[in-house]
Amino acid sequence: MSTRTSSEDTTPVREIPQVDDETPDELGAFPRLTDDQVATLEVGGARRPVRAGEVLTREGEPSQDFFVILSGKVAIIDEGDGESERRILRVHGPGRFLGELGLLEGQVAFFTAEAMEDGEILVVPAERVRELVAHDLVLSDLILRAYLVRRHLLIGLGSGFRIIGSCYSPDTLRLREFAMRNRLPHRWIDVEQDERAEQLLRSLEVAPEDTPVVIWHGEKVLRNPPNAELARVVGLPVPDTVRDATQDVCDLVVVGAGPAGLAASVYGASDGLNTVTLESVAAGGQASTSSRIENYLGFPAGISGAELAERAVIQAGKFGARLLVSAEVTGLVPEDGHHALPLADGGVVRGRAVVLATGARYRKLTVPGIEALEGTSVYYAATHQEARMCGTDPVAIVGGGNSAGQATVFLADGVSHVHLLIRSSDLGKSMSRYLVDQIERHPRVTVHRNTEVRTVHGEKYLEEIMVENNHTGEQDTLRVRALFVFIGAMPYTGWLADTIALDDHGFVLTGMDAVHVREDGNRRIGDRSPRTLETSLPGLFATGDVRSGSVKRVASAVGEGAMAVRQIHEYFDRS
Ligand SMILES: Cc1cc2nc3c(=O)[nH]c(=O)nc-3n(C[C@H](O)[C@H](O)[C@H](O)COP(=O)(O)OP(=O)(O)OC[C@H]3O[C@@H](n4cnc5c(N)ncnc54)[C@H](O)[C@@H]3O)c2cc1C
Repeated sequence: MSTRTSSEDTTPVREIPQVDDETPDELGAFPRLTDDQVATLEVGGARRPVRAGEVLTREGEPSQDFFVILSGKVAIIDEGDGESERRILRVHGPGRFLGELGLLEGQVAFFTAEAMEDGEILVVPAERVRELVAHDLVLSDLILRAYLVRRHLLIGLGSGFRIIGSCYSPDTLRLREFAMRNRLPHRWIDVEQDERAEQLLRSLEVAPEDTPVVIWHGEKVLRNPPNAELARVVGLPVPDTVRDATQDVCDLVVVGAGPAGLAASVYGASDGLNTVTLESVAAGGQASTSSRIENYLGFPAGISGAELAERAVIQAGKFGARLLVSAEVTGLVPEDGHHALPLADGGVVRGRAVVLATGARYRKLTVPGIEALEGTSVYYAATHQEARMCGTDPVAIVGGGNSAGQATVFLADGVSHVHLLIRSSDLGKSMSRYLVDQIERHPRVTVHRNTEVRTVHGEKYLEEIMVENNHTGEQDTLRVRALFVFIGAMPYTGWLADTIALDDHGFVLTGMDAVHVREDGNRRIGDRSPRTLETSLPGLFATGDVRSGSVKRVASAVGEGAMAVRQIHEYFDRS
């Protein structure tokens, strides 16, 4: 191998690295194992010599083994994309171990690992490491923490596969979103902006109209793959690769893998229920889009939604739950004593009990550039956390319902001014009177009627918004530090059609609400009272944000996931 290295992340692979060039471990991503830890791993593993230039792991190929470097050095390499050079990302020496999250989750490698000099390694089958992570407290903590940080770093480095496509193409957007939500290391090459794109496409013999394409180190090429195909290639579990999930009648099918669904999976599987979890996009749900959840019990410094999700996925897997992605449920059909759930891409999953945990999606404003400011100054919730981030600066709130009203009253206590923007002319149209009164009396609130946001401006943080009167066309600029959007949440229940009782907004009714809503008045589910999370269909439970009256918090979603499993046991006992 021709190499040059420093500890820079993006060093081209050209010259021989120096002995002291091992990448420093600044974030706890590259810890060194103690002799005792190596000895633990050695049970079930084997030592072997390694020669300079030997490839231990190849980018894009399944990684089956866990490697510990006993002597010598190993380079972690991004293979480039055919046009750009291979580059050394890291250099590791004795005592360090290779791999990242994909090894535990059965994914392909997102980098190449190549020996830089002759040495010795310990090879441990991935299966054995998964067992250790599940049962050895110290090693589990060390490996899991390192692997989570490494995945985060790899994503930041843009290692892994490339998506070549236009920023205007919906399929490019779809693939990018799928890769981002599943936290797959990749890089996007925009054919509209990136000068290399044209040359790269020419060398791959792909016409621009055939984009997007997904490529691995300039060789393997997928032309506009459906999400399921990309998932299959990277080793994410999809319905047709986990065959037994679609063949048997499971005890429990969980629909949706946000916090509620993941909790139901963990509690279901750990209670011995044969559990399958179906997720249309990526595990983690809305929570995984949150950069830091600060109010979840047990994490005083906060935890990123992505990390919470990764940990829960590993935990659910440890207990034997099978979680499938790109598995969108499209219907619900009661069959002989169980429920059949057809999937969008074909196939049916059957379960004796079902937990609906499909969550909700907050409506977003369609204003150019707004997404770049989400997380820093555009919010969909107004808790103490967001209020603190606003300080005393003026803010704008969009929405005419009670959520917008509550947020206005709450935020007006701390900030210098609240601009409440409503599309209609009547504040009382869909807001409770007590809120309207407080808002109209408040000295630091201005209500802008018939007003819509047209543009947002700001580099890292919002600086100003341009609003327009939808009657007169008159425009105005408001200097605000944050924009709060409360224009409703939409539950993912369209696919349930008329199968179960929903409230007026499409959220799933549970408990007594679910039975009283039927046209036949006080009709009960069977000859018994429904359990609190049971829907109008016996054996079908709803948890988290999709449930009518839910609290819309991670903790409550997790709590309901656990509660539902308990109620499913009772349902099994009595039916
Ligand atoms: C940006 C942001 C920040 C947040 N911050 C916080 C916070 O700090 N603290 C807090 O407590 N809460 C926070 N929340 C709220 C919290 O994330 C939600 O209350 C929580 O995620 C709800 O969990 P859930 O499992 O019910 O639903 P969701 O998280 O919405 O998950 C539902 C899952 O179901 C999947 N799905 C939908 N339909 C189907 C189908 N037909 N087939 C298969 N799968 C399907 C979806 O893809 C999704 O993954 C935040 C929300 C957002 C958006």
